[in-house]
Amino acid sequence: MAFQLIDGKKISLELQDEIAAEVQKLKAAGMKTPHLAAILVGNDGGSETYVASKIKACEKVGFKSTLIRLPEYVTEEKLLQTVHELNNDPDVDGFIVQLPLPRQINEHKIIEAVKPEKDVDGFHPINVGRMVLNLPCYVSATPYGIVHLLHKYNIETSGKHCVVIGRSHIVGSPMSILMAKNTSLGNSTVTLCHSKTENLKTHTRSADILICALGSPEFVTADMVKEGAVVIDVGTTRVASAETKSGFKLKGDVKFDEVAPKCSYITPVPGGVGPMTIASLLKNTLLAAKREVYP
Ligand code: NAP
Repeated sequence: MAFQLIDGKKISLELQDEIAAEVQKLKAAGMKTPHLAAILVGNDGGSETYVASKIKACEKVGFKSTLIRLPEYVTEEKLLQTVHELNNDPDVDGFIVQLPLPRQINEHKIIEAVKPEKDVDGFHPINVGRMVLNLPCYVSATPYGIVHLLHKYNIETSGKHCVVIGRSHIVGSPMSILMAKNTSLGNSTVTLCHSKTENLKTHTRSADILICALGSPEFVTADMVKEGAVVIDVGTTRVASAETKSGFKLKGDVKFDEVAPKCSYITPVPGGVGPMTIASLLKNTLLAAKREVYP
């Protein structure tokens, strides 16, 4: 079957161009420059890369950005203090605390300390609750990006069976909620699978839309996928590679070469969901700057 590649890089650049044009308009109208801040704790290689891409993307669309670095052994108290400072800084429209955090810090406490109005990652319980209730909110960036991709490629979701593998708070769970919503971009019948799911293949083989977010490289093989399915690969695992300068390669959760020929649409890794996550974060920051979600 001839499959169509879902080009997340291209759609992400388009979205960033739209955001950049809107930033120009805001500035021309005398409004302040949207400002995203990021707190990075420690020196984890993956987190460093993600934050650097977010900062670079901010510059590209004309946002102001601030990176606050804290040492690996920072206390929870000091991190909370930094969060409060950003909450109260009128120049900062939105901010993120890059996850994961070191062991001495209670992640939930930090997420709950971020003002919902500035929680552009959409992780705060208020934003999650508002998403469930269909109220204005910041939707977390990765699920938001995936919905945007489905929309851009005119992929019908209504009445379809969507299977999500993975139930994390940042990807799988919100994704399953968005796909089941009574909205034009939802209306799917959703099955949410996880590590305790029995007969996983039986579920995945009946999926019209299969969203893979488990973090296990090349886990999803051709025999797990229905002919003509739409496959969204969220997984990004660093695996050692002698072929790259960095010494690693990003691998998705899907065995692309054998799965793609069975699909109608599929996202690659890299270049699929990843770039959309950053564009969605910028979009949330723009909404924050315009006070659209919380007027
Ligand atoms: P996570 O918190 O580790 O959650 C993984 C989920 O997958 C869990 O719900 C787990 O089940 C389930 N799972 C693990 N092994 C399974 C198996 N063999 N069969 C069925 N389910 C299984 O991961 P995450 O934060 O959601 O991230 C998932 C992947 O997406 C990672 O590779 C991550 O790097 C990537 N990611 C990419 C982006 C992006 O922008 N592209 C953004 C975020 C995450 P249990 O709940 O039962 O443990």
